[in-house]
Amino acid sequence: MEHSLETLQSCPSCGHDSFKNILSCIDYTYSKDAFYLVECTSCKLLFTNPRPDELAIGKYYDSPEYVSHTDTNSGLLFTLYGIVKRYTLKQKRKTLESLSNEKNILDYGAGSGDFSNELVQNNWTVSAYEPDGNARKKIEEKNSKINLVGQLPEVGTESKSVITLWHVLEHVHRLNETIKEFHRILKNDGILVIAVPNHTSFDASYYQTDWAAYDVPRHLYHFNPATLETLMSANGFLLHEIKPMWFDSYYVSLLSEKNISNPGILKTAFGWIRAFLFGSYSNIKTIVATKNCSSVTYVFKKAL
Ligand SMILES: [Zn+2]
Repeated sequence: MEHSLETLQSCPSCGHDSFKNILSCIDYTYSKDAFYLVECTSCKLLFTNPRPDELAIGKYYDSPEYVSHTDTNSGLLFTLYGIVKRYTLKQKRKTLESLSNEKNILDYGAGSGDFSNELVQNNWTVSAYEPDGNARKKIEEKNSKINLVGQLPEVGTESKSVITLWHVLEHVHRLNETIKEFHRILKNDGILVIAVPNHTSFDASYYQTDWAAYDVPRHLYHFNPATLETLMSANGFLLHEIKPMWFDSYYVSLLSEKNISNPGILKTAFGWIRAFLFGSYSNIKTIVATKNCSSVTYVFKKAL
């Protein structure tokens, strides 16, 4: 297979130029190739290096197993995923409505448009950004009231009261440049909501290199609460609130079990029980300390 990998010489968060190798992970979903995770010795951000460049990354999403870009509904895992998805869409909307009086949003990395659609159906004004052509087509089919935007510079300054990135920031090549655009677009009293996996969670430390949320090379960065806060505060944002994402512990544990025993384990009760136990244990640890959750939702406000 033809690859176009780029090797970063400076940290995508702080610009520092010295890293150390932390882990080697396999791309279980598509290429089966190994990718290194390196840690910046200054800001401690963990990131995939080398990584596919912006042009080459598209093909790594080209797998029927890549759930977030499809509405596939075959198999028990996908059925469960669908049920949980419907529930969490509603929960996410309610969270935003408890935090913002205005219903005016940019959904950045909208995928196939399920969240945008949930919002439009509840009287939100929705602009959606999605780079993938097939996913954009699905958004158009789903609801014509969703306003698809091309590039961020087209979006007006201080025009949005809410910006959301649900499991998106870890996929964005031009990290600081994009976050600066969010700062420009967001109203001064607006909120920026970012959900990303947490590599300092219990399930990450248990599954190590097989932890499904490393998802190399699609995940370019692997955040924890400290490294995300460092990145965001350098771009003019203050952390307002942290919310654990309970279901992600189970889902990520299931996918991690599949990575370990590729792929028959989820056809046995054993794999499901293991995933349930490790997911639950991760959540119990989260009750003790929110920052230990498998995935975390962060609410940021502009530092004024
Ligand atoms: Zn750094």
